[in-house]
Amino acid sequence: MSCDFLALANAGIQGLSPYQAGKPIEELERELGISGIVKLASNENPLGPSAAALTACEKAERDLTRYPDANGFELKQAIAEKFSLQPNQLTLGAGSNDVLDLIARVFLSPHASSVFSQYGFVVYPIATQACGARAIVTPAKNWGHDLDAMAAAIAPDTRVVFIANPNNPTGTSLTKTELLKFLRQVPANVVVVLDEAYTEYVNAPDFPNGLALLSEFPNLIVTRTFSKAYGLAGLRVGYAASNVQIADLLNRVRAPFNVNALALAAATATLADDEYLQRSHALNLQGMQQVVDGVTALDLAFIPSVGNFITVEMPSDALPIYQRLLREGVIVRPLVPYGMPKHLRISIGLPDENAKFLSALRRVL
Ligand SMILES: *Cc1c(COP(=O)(O)O)cnc(C)c1O
Repeated sequence: MSCDFLALANAGIQGLSPYQAGKPIEELERELGISGIVKLASNENPLGPSAAALTACEKAERDLTRYPDANGFELKQAIAEKFSLQPNQLTLGAGSNDVLDLIARVFLSPHASSVFSQYGFVVYPIATQACGARAIVTPAKNWGHDLDAMAAAIAPDTRVVFIANPNNPTGTSLTKTELLKFLRQVPANVVVVLDEAYTEYVNAPDFPNGLALLSEFPNLIVTRTFSKAYGLAGLRVGYAASNVQIADLLNRVRAPFNVNALALAAATATLADDEYLQRSHALNLQGMQQVVDGVTALDLAFIPSVGNFITVEMPSDALPIYQRLLREGVIVRPLVPYGMPKHLRISIGLPDENAKFLSALRRVL
């Protein structure tokens, strides 16, 4: 006799659709039997990991029989020093996705709600629903966050507001002036999560540094990641910075060894490699210009982006264009899960990867 396990699952999880990741290169290779595939689908750093990270991994490999440092002492020390924080303000995660889940677990329940924007990062609705909480979604303004609408949408049961700055998948950003005005409006008992996954790429006037706002706003949590500009997406490491009491709560539900030994070592080493970060930043600016020029030449509209990706509007339904690009050996990201069926998100790659994408796009259109 079999059992309907779906009926046994927590209410929120019964209706949950899993996160749709970018298609892996190996999967497309298996499907098409071709090589030389270009993946511009997951906002990864096209430079490859920093040499410092590789050296640190080689050294850490010798101790793979040992559990990692459950408290991540060295990495926390390095983050705290670099950004003038205290180590006890930090919570490490297996990617910042992990800490977003920890935040949801600590503050959300079937008796609570979270607020986030239309076109906001898709992990926010997933983390909310997994906890059985109610999602309050505010309409976007020019594809970005409408902070006035978000402040107005906060309900008596709202415990968390999620804001990505810059936002993925739209590449839009908020100014420090806008953010400060919002933070001053939010009740002290509502946690504001400021997701700064792409902050290292941004060159925008009046762009805020969330870490510098922590002392003024005890209800603020800033999340950052080593997956993007720091080039370590495969290792899974990120963190939250917050006030000490929130960090203590997040660390209560964190799995003791959630960040593995190689990730700890590589993240600590990359954090000190300013030259790598500068190269990543410069390469992205140059590649962004190349892609902007290329899609402009094709007469396509795009959402101006301050991140390492750009979202481009196709002349028609984007899914068939995505499929045709796959057959050309180029993986980009369709945005159907975001309710943007005419858009594709393209991560900025190396110059020849960007060129390959642009010529494939020209052919398939
Ligand atoms: C990529 C991304 C993250 C983090 O991903 P991790 O690899 O889990 O650190 C978080 N937020 C946004 C908006 C992202 O795009």
